[in-house]
Amino acid sequence: MTDEPLPPSRDTLSKATLFCLACDRTAPIDDAWSLAKRDGRTDLSCPDCGAVIVSQPDFDADESKRLLAA
Ligand SMILES: [Zn+2]
Repeated sequence: MTDEPLPPSRDTLSKATLFCLACDRTAPIDDAWSLAKRDGRTDLSCPDCGAVIVSQPDFDADESKRLLAA
């Protein structure tokens, strides 16, 4: 009953935010994360500790293309 995570702040509700369970880094999904494509999958990893935050097939194509070009 007391072990639930901290509730998201109002600021994060309107924008997807990722957080690293390994080092507690927090940042918007479209900023400050290492994005790598391999074998049709997209991995988002923490630039600070290298932990993989998200690994999913075919991340949004247009979005990832824009991110990779940045
Ligand atoms: Zn981390």
